[in-house]
Amino acid sequence: MAVLPILRWPDPRLEERCAPVTGDVAGLAADMLETMYAAPGRGLAAPQVGQLIRLFVMDTTWKEGTRAPVVCINPAITWRAAEVQTGPEGCLSIPGIVTQVARAKAIRLRWTDLAGQDHEEILQGFAAVCAQHEYDHLDGILTLDRISPEDRAAAERALA
Ligand code: ZN
Repeated sequence: MAVLPILRWPDPRLEERCAPVTGDVAGLAADMLETMYAAPGRGLAAPQVGQLIRLFVMDTTWKEGTRAPVVCINPAITWRAAEVQTGPEGCLSIPGIVTQVARAKAIRLRWTDLAGQDHEEILQGFAAVCAQHEYDHLDGILTLDRISPEDRAAAERALA
């Protein structure tokens, strides 16, 4: 396993729509989890390490105790609650910037794990936010794309 370099905005690879996973990603997923824990973060998408494929990893509880890594291959959001919550989000590719992003309060996420097993679960609270954030990365969407032009201008000034 290895800690991989994390791409930083405005790297153009972060704005690409990613292709479905077709091959074996066990090694990459292990490296992504190690990279996420080292960062430290609670989610990491493959394009953030330069792999433009539909894969992300997350562990929404490890900072509070036990590790519970989840590897999501070819995920799909199959339902979004109409109710929206706005909360602070950081991104490992936009270090030092926290933006207020509106997200569905709950989603249903479908994905395949490393064993080839399909899953479908309702996610709420922080897990719902984290999964929507990571899923956005697979479509080349960043938190900066989900905030007002004024907030984006302020974030870009802070990054410059
Ligand atoms: Zn991110």
